[in-house]
Amino acid sequence: MSRELKEVVGVVFKRQKYHEADLLAKIMTKNDGIITMLARGALKPKSKLGASLLNFSFGTYVISTTGQGLSSLRTFKNVRQFDGLFSDLEKSAYASFILDLVDHAFIEYQNLGKYYDLAEFALSRINAGEDAEMITQIVQMQLLAAYGVEPELRHCVFCQRDQGQFDYSIKQGGILCNRHYYADPERLHLKPKETALLRTIALLPFERLGEIEINLETKKATRQAIDRIYQETIDLNLKTKKFLDELNLLG
Ligand SMILES: [Zn+2]
Repeated sequence: MSRELKEVVGVVFKRQKYHEADLLAKIMTKNDGIITMLARGALKPKSKLGASLLNFSFGTYVISTTGQGLSSLRTFKNVRQFDGLFSDLEKSAYASFILDLVDHAFIEYQNLGKYYDLAEFALSRINAGEDAEMITQIVQMQLLAAYGVEPELRHCVFCQRDQGQFDYSIKQGGILCNRHYYADPERLHLKPKETALLRTIALLPFERLGEIEINLETKKATRQAIDRIYQETIDLNLKTKKFLDELNLLG
């Protein structure tokens, strides 16, 4: 593909200094995927580009691109910022982790489709002050499919029962009803209401999920369950996750 000027709409994340005063910044867009933009001179004090590349800025960016590798940022329009994410350490840590997760699930320039909407939903809800931990768990459960992990959460993997008490089995790739708990002694040993929460946040379209208020104990249990599912099926080892764990927000 030849080089062309293109307008893309998205959210800026992951900035990195490049050469003397240039900046590399990633932008997450819906149809054009995740793009690394080179902004020449963006770190010079008088640069106009710099202001548009603060973390969690969103708007329209005009890039020169070949559809692969680095694209270069030419100009921008209507750029605003999720200031709640930018100014609050905890919100920023959650938002960075979410963007990092999306970043690792796709190759560059790959269409994100509904996962863009999922991430944008999450960022705007966290920005607005909703429970960032809960929103992050929703994103993680819904993003599993983008990583090629599609646990069976609609019904027991053995008997298809969809009502009753369930536990989660990593080995069996989904939920077990209490009659089939024996099939995996290493199952997560969650309380039925904890498995129910995992099912709800994974299966319901996120647009339909209102603000979910969950007590701390349940939220901790589902956090640990999701961490194990990710470790044992995807094994990402992300710095942004480590940082969140260090903040120990659920402690
Ligand atoms: Zn069963």
